[in-house]
Amino acid sequence: MFYRQTWAEINLDAIFNNVARFKTYLSKDKQLMATVKADGYGHGAVPAAKTALRAGADWLAVALLEEGIELRQAGIRAPILVLGYVLPTYLPLAQRHQLHITVPDHAYFKDMAAHVHPDEPPLQFHLKLDTGMGRLGICSQQELEQVISKYLQWSSSDPASQVLKWTGVYSHLATADERDDTYLRQQLATFDYMVDQILASGIQPDSIHLANSAGLIRQTMGRHATLVRLGISMYGLLPSAWMAELLPFDLEPAFSLHSKLSQVKRVTAGHGISYGCTYRAQKEEWIGTIPIGYADGYSRLLSNRAHVLINGRRYPVVGRVCMDQMMIKLDRPYSRHQQVTLIGRQGGQEVSVDELAGLIGTINYEIPCQITKRVPRVHV
Ligand code: PLP
Repeated sequence: MFYRQTWAEINLDAIFNNVARFKTYLSKDKQLMATVKADGYGHGAVPAAKTALRAGADWLAVALLEEGIELRQAGIRAPILVLGYVLPTYLPLAQRHQLHITVPDHAYFKDMAAHVHPDEPPLQFHLKLDTGMGRLGICSQQELEQVISKYLQWSSSDPASQVLKWTGVYSHLATADERDDTYLRQQLATFDYMVDQILASGIQPDSIHLANSAGLIRQTMGRHATLVRLGISMYGLLPSAWMAELLPFDLEPAFSLHSKLSQVKRVTAGHGISYGCTYRAQKEEWIGTIPIGYADGYSRLLSNRAHVLINGRRYPVVGRVCMDQMMIKLDRPYSRHQQVTLIGRQGGQEVSVDELAGLIGTINYEIPCQITKRVPRVHV
């Protein structure tokens, strides 16, 4: 139940269709991990996850332990990988909820056994390799050898090893969405080389993965890959616009943002609009007020720049976006409660997530993530 007149509409059919198409695009021997961290990139983690699983996803990925627990509490039983750092103290929680965690380095690995709880199910982990992202993961040969030998030593002698289960190994691509694939090729070669070493030691993790959406679109996954991690493109957005050339099917954007006019008024020439009067009416003009602002995640940087849609026509945002409200210039006296689309399609017109991202110099990922919890998500 919500009382306000602003909402984000999430089209679950679009998520379903995107995931189903990628599942078909992927060779039959590989699994698909749907990335639903950050509340499903702002789309709602639980509905996005359930839809992706219905469409054929095999795994889910989150960034935080609490995000994984939220999915479990919603009754989701699929395997879940926590991509981010988990404080060792909380490892028993990961065990209890059967969440696979990420091991970022040797020191963490050595420390794990001291924190796992023998009465909980085994702690399942994926080793993270830093093949060039420079974020989490092991980047030295020597450190990888240390992890391998420690694990082998544990498995043969230490009862603690019974509660540790090496289920996966993965890395993350830094430039897969760029046309120049020089760095991507280097990462791929490093990944294959490091995975070869793990396999040569006799350790055989079930899941080996490298590709994000961009890696999957350009079919760069690693020689031993058993799965891919699909993120932005399950929501119908491209990692970079040029990648549309590579995709044999269209993506369906799932996110749209709507509101309703709360006031429409006639102002005279020179009337200032919003803080600082950065816009002044040039003649008599119709101005509409919309109950959404930067506290809802509609960036203040969009002031005097963005457009919205009413009845399939584009209207400019005028003056500064306020905390809870903003204004647009109209060409006619629309009535109060007239629907306004801030992101999405109306008639033949569209204000896309990419358009807004371009206006404020960011990436499409940030736009739906930025729309705050105060904006209700309506799943259709
Ligand atoms: N894997 C990791 C480790 C990530 O951090 C992300 C997203 O940032 C993804 C996969 C999904 O990437 P994308 O949304 O580009 O498909």
